[in-house]
Amino acid sequence: MSSQPTDFIREIIEADLASGKHESIVTRFPPEPNGYLHIGHAKSIVLNFGVAEQYGGRCHLRFDDTNPTKEEMEYVESITEDVRWLGFDWGEHLHFASDYFGQLYEWAEHLVREGLAYVDDQSAEEIRATRGTLTEPGTPSPWRDRSVEENLDLLRRMKAGEFPDGSRVLRAKIDMAAPNLNLRDPVLYRILHEAHHRTGSEWCIYPMYDFAHGQSDAIEGITHSLCTLEFENHRPLYDWFLEHLPVPHRPRQVEFARLNLTYTVLSKRKLLRLVEEGHVNGWDDPRMPTISGLRRRGSTPESIRTFCERVGVARRDSTVDVALLEWAVRDHLNLTARRVMGVLRPLKVVIENYPEGQVEHFDAPYFPDDPPKMGSRKVPFTRELWVERTDFMEDPPKKFWRLAPGREVRLRWAYLVTCTGVVKDDEGNVVELRCTYDPETRGGNAPDGRKVRGTIHWVSAAHGIPAEVRLYDRLFDRPDPDRVDGEGEDFLANLNPHSLEVVEAVVEASLAGVAPGERFQFERTGYFCVDPDSTPERPVFNRTVPLRDSWAKIERQMQGRGKERGTR
Ligand code: ATP
Ligand code: MG
Repeated sequence: MSSQPTDFIREIIEADLASGKHESIVTRFPPEPNGYLHIGHAKSIVLNFGVAEQYGGRCHLRFDDTNPTKEEMEYVESITEDVRWLGFDWGEHLHFASDYFGQLYEWAEHLVREGLAYVDDQSAEEIRATRGTLTEPGTPSPWRDRSVEENLDLLRRMKAGEFPDGSRVLRAKIDMAAPNLNLRDPVLYRILHEAHHRTGSEWCIYPMYDFAHGQSDAIEGITHSLCTLEFENHRPLYDWFLEHLPVPHRPRQVEFARLNLTYTVLSKRKLLRLVEEGHVNGWDDPRMPTISGLRRRGSTPESIRTFCERVGVARRDSTVDVALLEWAVRDHLNLTARRVMGVLRPLKVVIENYPEGQVEHFDAPYFPDDPPKMGSRKVPFTRELWVERTDFMEDPPKKFWRLAPGREVRLRWAYLVTCTGVVKDDEGNVVELRCTYDPETRGGNAPDGRKVRGTIHWVSAAHGIPAEVRLYDRLFDRPDPDRVDGEGEDFLANLNPHSLEVVEAVVEASLAGVAPGERFQFERTGYFCVDPDSTPERPVFNRTVPLRDSWAKIERQMQGRGKERGTR
């Protein structure tokens, strides 16, 4: 047990344990299976499973599947996979609100018998129209004072399928003048002749979320029902049901602020639109903030957990900079990803004084900072190589430590080379560089101690493997995608048209046969993850996150000062 609670929820839990209110704690993560999980859900998962783990309790995974019309098995499967991938285990406690339909119905009859619920024949519109406002009380339904017998009879006939959809509902009889609108005789059951993904056609009446959630918590012995702030004014209703029903246990609802991220939308409805309208290639598109998208992009479960812990929980809504997520991903990959070489935008280099047909193999550690950690591979060196187009400038400014006519650079793990010439096409584009190498510098150091600052990566043209590399940028080009300028526009107006760039790259030979999900750092370029679209002949890599580019930084500084030329 921690000595210092780190947030208000842990404070509550520790107080409840200290006072003996609970011997151990039980939490739950309650997704509705109507979409894929996103990074906001990860915050809730990390909190619920995290506190259970920390205080030696347990956490349930419970599907809140009370709405048969929008829910599908596909979502149940993706959600269980995602929670497991994040590293959490619900043990035997995989539950479904639909498992409790029988008990919930009995409790509905209980309320009817107690005179605390009635069947209302008004339409949904009439109910909405008579609910009143924040300043005016609602109008009681003409059916509010039906006898217990009549209510019981009607409820049973609703259940038996005698009435069409929408013709009647069961409502709690609480207070049509309650200041909290949720207490103005809320609907408990509605008629829906619709098959459910688990109970099939057994039911044609379904409980509302509010009537199912707290009671499910009670059935499962949940001690702390942690949910987001939009449920705060549902809490009186949550407590009302628990008070008026013979529940076996009294859970407590505690609300915290939901996660908002810059440049990101986290509403399932909006994510669904992105998928259905084809703005992205599915729920697991690497630009999506879904767990499956983040996974496909190459983020690690550890980094997502770290991110959620860093964000913490609070009662007040706020927006977190997406750079914090990128930082967490980079930070973990920095410690775990093998370093290899891949050239994203290849430019041919011919080493004029290197013998044709000769191959040398350089031993290159996968983790140069601590070579024994990950072992090494052999990198072949030949007369013709590929280097990065952005590592050459014909007319460079002073601080450009890369290739330029007459300048010498180090080829990572290999030799020092000097650029001696440039080949251009008819339009004046540079299509090839001519270089010479210094045979005395094998391994990359000059015996005379001359200083060569720049080191660039490269791939042997004879050995390199062509690869598709997908470079991602933010999906939206505004920090708040919901802010729009034009009349009638919505968040889609803020889609970043350059969120995906595909390049034809060449990667080092050791990457033949990589498997989807493997993660690498391409030195000097970024972190990359093998995409499931890969074939044995042609790997596909997703750029998870770029490295911070030192030249881009210098360039920005120069532009800021306006002193030196800084074009590239
Ligand atoms: P949406 O509003 O996007 O449809 P939801 O809240 O309806 O999402 P649920 O499946 O009901 O999605 O959510 C399951 C749990 O995850 C709930 O406890 C909910 O409070 C929590 N949750 C959802 N979004 C966030 C978020 N952005 N930050 C933190 N928790 C969240
Ligand atoms: Mg919800």
